[in-house]
Amino acid sequence: MKPSNLTTDLISVIVPCFNEEESLPMFYEKTSEVLCSIENADYEFIFVDDGSTDKTAEYLKKLKRQDERCRYISFSRNFGKEAAMFAGLKEAKGDYCVIMDADLQHPPTLLPYMYRAVSIEGWDCCGGKRKGREGDGGLRAFLSRAFYRVSSRLTHMDMRDGQGDFRMMCRKMTDAIINTGEYNRYMKGIFCFVGFRTKWLEFDNVERTCGSTKWSFKSLFKYAAEGIISFSSAPLRLPGLLGLTSIIAGLVFAMVKAIQLISGTGQMSGTELIICVVMLLAGVQLISIYIMGLYIYKDCLESKKRPVYIIRERG
Ligand code: UDP
Ligand code: MG
Repeated sequence: MKPSNLTTDLISVIVPCFNEEESLPMFYEKTSEVLCSIENADYEFIFVDDGSTDKTAEYLKKLKRQDERCRYISFSRNFGKEAAMFAGLKEAKGDYCVIMDADLQHPPTLLPYMYRAVSIEGWDCCGGKRKGREGDGGLRAFLSRAFYRVSSRLTHMDMRDGQGDFRMMCRKMTDAIINTGEYNRYMKGIFCFVGFRTKWLEFDNVERTCGSTKWSFKSLFKYAAEGIISFSSAPLRLPGLLGLTSIIAGLVFAMVKAIQLISGTGQMSGTELIICVVMLLAGVQLISIYIMGLYIYKDCLESKKRPVYIIRERG
């Protein structure tokens, strides 16, 4: 352990773990080796056992006995990575907090550069940006890229593929994230919401050390939907657009028929009249649903109790 009179900053490393008994020993070894080499900073590990069913909890208990810088919390069941990250950030005492996956896909070798960026270069946050998606599988890589393009457009937030949860943040940014009290948490959106100046360091995509990804296609779709719904009202516009289209089509149809009737070139059958009325009524209903949806969305935003503004610095 470094002599305490030399240490100034504390770095909290938050590690969400779900069935990571195979990856954790290597993760701990490699990451502590790098953290030990950082001058002027001490560190703590906060492992969040997200309801693992393997021997993750046993390993974390053992680790805590061996190394006083290691702490852990164990969830009563699997609550998901978002909940694990939130819990870890709340537990962290560090001046700087960094979130890392347990499978070494977030290279610990970046940590000294991240620390330099936030402690010396004046950035509020320094994130790792994964280059490419080798090892992810063609379909998954394609869908992920498409998701980030679509969600950035819909949410008007700059979310880019490769910019994940691997970031070292200053205390102010960490507190701002903790203070977003929403239950349905979508961390990539929250990072964008709280703002702050972020430096990006690129790293090569590497495959998991061991074990397998915890994300199925179903859970990824759920996560993607969560991201869009939590930060965008764009899906709500769909009934509004459909309603408007239906009303315009109904009106055009009625006008064409009226012109034909007046000029004596055609007539309106009973079915055509019904179609016209149905189009107009469906349109009105869809627009009513859109307006109701807007109110519900606004109410939903109120219940999230997001801060109205966040101060970065005071003079
Ligand atoms: N994880 C978690 N809870 C979950 C799923 C994953 O805490 O329900 C953790 C997992 O143990 C790992 C990190 O989140 O440390 C990233 O998970 P994974 O490697 O499976 O995701 P991928 O890298 O494939 O996106
Ligand atoms: Mg992984």
